[in-house]
Amino acid sequence: MRDPDELLRALSKSRFRASQRLSPRDAQYLQDKGLDLVLAHARDFIAQRLAPAQPAKDGRQTPWRGHPVFVAQHATACCCRGCLAQWHGIAKGRALTPAEQQHVLAVLARWLAAQLPPGG
Ligand SMILES: [Zn+2]
Repeated sequence: MRDPDELLRALSKSRFRASQRLSPRDAQYLQDKGLDLVLAHARDFIAQRLAPAQPAKDGRQTPWRGHPVFVAQHATACCCRGCLAQWHGIAKGRALTPAEQQHVLAVLARWLAAQLPPGG
């Protein structure tokens, strides 16, 4: 698993990853629901869509909009097992360990926290 600081630096150099932005609607949702609740959703998405050894529709399981976590997943390369393997050094073809799920959650939390307005 890659160090989150190093990972986020590398992501910032990817035009595609760095261009991911919350829509006004998703940003409002994050602000209204708060980071803790949104991260509880993230935990479920990770468990259901990423953690299995062979996730359903792997590579296409993360929508582009509709929840701030989806956008965060594309921004941080936590969208599918291929991206987790390429960017995070987490091998495909086996279930994610609890520590790996925690790593994904921590990376998403950092990205989402940075989208909140200062002082909010
Ligand atoms: Zn992906």
